[in-house]
Amino acid sequence: MKEEVLTETINIIKLASLVAGKPVSSGKQLYINNPYNGQLVGTVEMANLSDTQAAVKAALKGGTVLNRYERYSILEKARILLLERKEEFAQLITAESGLCITESTYEIGRAHDVLLFSAMECLNDDGQVFSCDISPNGKQRKIFTLREPLKLAVAITPFNHPLNQVAHKIAPALAAGTPVILKPSEKTPLTAIRFVELLFEAGLPPYMLSVLLGNTKDVAEALVQNPEVDIVSFTGSVVVGKRIAQTAGYKKVILELGGNDPLIILEDANLDLGVVLAAEGAFRNSGQRCTGVKRILVQESISEEFTKRFVEKAKEYTSGNPADPQTKVGTVIDEQAAIYLENVVDKAVAQGAKVLLGGKRTGALLEPTVIINVPRDAQMVVQESFGPLAPILTFKDIDDAIQLSNSTAFGLSSGIVTANMENAIRFVKELQVGTVNINEVPGYRTERSPFGGIKDSGLGIKEGVVEAIKCFTYVKTFSMPW
Ligand code: NAP
Repeated sequence: MKEEVLTETINIIKLASLVAGKPVSSGKQLYINNPYNGQLVGTVEMANLSDTQAAVKAALKGGTVLNRYERYSILEKARILLLERKEEFAQLITAESGLCITESTYEIGRAHDVLLFSAMECLNDDGQVFSCDISPNGKQRKIFTLREPLKLAVAITPFNHPLNQVAHKIAPALAAGTPVILKPSEKTPLTAIRFVELLFEAGLPPYMLSVLLGNTKDVAEALVQNPEVDIVSFTGSVVVGKRIAQTAGYKKVILELGGNDPLIILEDANLDLGVVLAAEGAFRNSGQRCTGVKRILVQESISEEFTKRFVEKAKEYTSGNPADPQTKVGTVIDEQAAIYLENVVDKAVAQGAKVLLGGKRTGALLEPTVIINVPRDAQMVVQESFGPLAPILTFKDIDDAIQLSNSTAFGLSSGIVTANMENAIRFVKELQVGTVNINEVPGYRTERSPFGGIKDSGLGIKEGVVEAIKCFTYVKTFSMPW
């Protein structure tokens, strides 16, 4: 009864791809179903190749050029509108992604910060001055820098943070004054389109933003390969990211790809802290975070005690109806993804691993799963498993932990739990990753700070509002006798 009440509150939403604010009319619909109960959440009118070309044309044609204060005002107004519609956005995220409502609400807070920090950056001067009379070869001149917007950015986003990923691409681009064409995930397009509508309501000129859903060849690939596009900013899987790297041609490419992050718990750690961080890192957002804890590495001497306490903690992460505020872990994105994860667990068990908790699947809902005795070459250790799996592995000493941590193709982030500063510094120096968080989960960040991975997790180019704005601009220098 309770479930019926919770799901009936959402009406079917009919949206369309928008070319510079105008809805397309291809006659082809994309259907989005709730991963938990299969109900139709909404439809999106899809774009075709000529819509893609029209979006590029509209952005390049341009329109009212916004000054810094105008860009600030639009982002600030969008921030306030988002806060006013927090509830509505949270329900939409939950309905189309299966993320539980507490996670969706948390995500609104993150997107709010992205808007706040992007608005703030509009007001910051970003030029530099270089005096030229500082060496024997110098002259009485000065060189000045200023940042110019790019003429067109393409942003391609994944499903796992339906709002925040979109905000992280669009808001910094708009702060820079760069027009954007957004291609959100076809699994979670409704939140993305609603967010675009909100930006128009906040005063954004239509030419500055288009949002397109459509088949890969006519939209995503056509945009990636278009020589008029200055930058492709992509967040998603390694396979698609590497394909983009091969096909984009002569343009900037930002790739934020998969992860396989370790949480490394040393014998000197505060064990209770280690237990909390492991559970939060592995199970939050249904385990679907690029920086989720995908491997829990525990020093042998404390592994028995850690495992005992961790299993008790994991029991608190109840899975169920994502719309229920009591639920801590919603579904993964669809049943296919849940079946994939189930198989990954079965394969590890066939290699000698043991499931201590969870593992049961109902449709797209997979219980938080704790697994021990996981071999170091198991698929869930070597590859990325995007779901609420918590494999525990043990290590002998710090050398072994560093070797094990660095042994996969990924290099996104990491968390170290230790009370010893010398140990902490060794990990900071020796882990091959984009981020090392001491006594925090790998995913800890602010929306402003630099973020991004190396190896298969990315090209080492950072996002986060401040760095992303740099990506969406180029630096022009000019010099004068002075
Ligand atoms: P995905 O399958 O790679 O899809 C991401 C986006 O790429 C979607 O919009 C998708 O469109 C589009 N796409 C598909 N084929 C394409 C092509 N040939 N050319 C251009 N674009 C194409 O990733 P996902 O399954 O949505 O997301 C999960 C992955 O994202 C995980 O690996 C996760 O680790 C990663 N991720 C990384 C970060 C980070 O910051 N490093 C953050 C979040 C997530 P369709 O939906 O239409 O297929």
